[in-house]
Amino acid sequence: MRLLVLSDIHANLEALEACLEAAPEYDQVYNLGDIVGYGANPNEVTERSRDLGSIFVRGNHDKACSGVTSLQDFNPIAGLAALWTRHQLAPDHLEFLQRLPQGPLQPIENVQLVHGSPRDEDEYILMASDAYFLLARSAAPLIFFGHTHVQRCFSLESGASTGKSLVPAHHSAKGRQTVKLDLKARTHYMINPGSVGQPRDNDPRAAFLLYDTEQGSITFYRVPYDIVRTQEKIIAAGLPERLAARLAEGR
Ligand code: ZN
Repeated sequence: MRLLVLSDIHANLEALEACLEAAPEYDQVYNLGDIVGYGANPNEVTERSRDLGSIFVRGNHDKACSGVTSLQDFNPIAGLAALWTRHQLAPDHLEFLQRLPQGPLQPIENVQLVHGSPRDEDEYILMASDAYFLLARSAAPLIFFGHTHVQRCFSLESGASTGKSLVPAHHSAKGRQTVKLDLKARTHYMINPGSVGQPRDNDPRAAFLLYDTEQGSITFYRVPYDIVRTQEKIIAAGLPERLAARLAEGR
């Protein structure tokens, strides 16, 4: 089976379309949450995501934008964008977002899907030490996570005291880039596909990955998209300008 793993699309339609165009053939989509929030196309992106027939876990922005949680943990810019999104969302999409399941989900035996981490759906796993702690206790050998908007692979061999941290793509590279990783036996992985719609690893290119279960391989993707068009839509919608500027910076 070939699984397309998308995360943190954040209502960025141009980035989502560019990723789907760059994606190879796949059987199913795993969506790790934060479909909406920040971007100017919450209805279009929710509709497109639903049409893909994905398996979803919810993100903190999905919860806040659909009113499942309050905005008190959001910074002012994220809060403004969440309120704007809530007003924009068609009732059907709002209800869909409200009903998204909490991670972790285990769609196949060796894979867990989470937005933040297996122990807390809102936790940011940025530090390798946190990832290794979780990997030593993980319920599945392969955990896909999002939330940090940083494309990354943490791995831990069974019995090892410390693991490895891999930064797949390099932001100095231009154009479309793929990096393939062969998964090893007796090793646990926490893998973040990166963010489709708001990368924060100093690389403005949209990010996702493909997991080939038969090959036992992960292919990381970075894909350029029409950032200027996305920025114009954010400004035209009256959303905070910072949300447009950061897309070009990739942070
Ligand atoms: Zn996010």
